Amino acid sequence: MLTANQTVEDILKESEAWLTGHFLLTGGKHSDQYLQCQKVLRYPRKGAILANMLADQLMEQSIIPEVVAGPAMGAIHWELLVAQAFDNRSNEPVIGVFAERPAGSDEFEIRRGIELKPNQKVLVVEDVTTTGGSARKVCELVRKLGANPIAVAAIVDRSGSAVQFDVPFYSLLKLNLSVYEPDQCPMCKEGKPVVKPGSSKKN
Ligand SMILES: [Zn+2]
Repeated sequence: MLTANQTVEDILKESEAWLTGHFLLTGGKHSDQYLQCQKVLRYPRKGAILANMLADQLMEQSIIPEVVAGPAMGAIHWELLVAQAFDNRSNEPVIGVFAERPAGSDEFEIRRGIELKPNQKVLVVEDVTTTGGSARKVCELVRKLGANPIAVAAIVDRSGSAVQFDVPFYSLLKLNLSVYEPDQCPMCKEGKPVVKPGSSKKN
């Protein structure tokens, strides 16, 4: 059950999108925390609560998009949930679209017959911002297509507020997560078993 005064932290933790423990991350480093926002976005009701929080936060800043675009795969579901939240607050339909990289390409495209209109106001969203590289590329794509990126927004900014864009950046939660090389990991020194997220195996 969801209660009216749940925080972003509560919603991420109860859906296991935010785990604490001792984790082996992709790339080989260790961390005491792990984020996987698809775990919360699989629950449309919880995803909608987060999207409504974000829409409220952005509307207070007069950021009102006509299109919500996000990079696949991380932003899939999130872009449509955020578009829905703005659509509920608008007289005009708000569109959700994902940008994808065709196999073998490093460049994002908006495909499947969907086109942006000139000067359309586009909010770029992602689930977790680490370096912001994908969101930045989607902003560039939006400009190339003649539309206008007006802001970037994420569920979690895990950059420790270090990331910058050339449009305003908003997030529901800011985290500065510690990651360690295995030979410097304090949990390893304590002898805690390390877990690879998404698998039941322990290393
Ligand atoms: Zn470790």
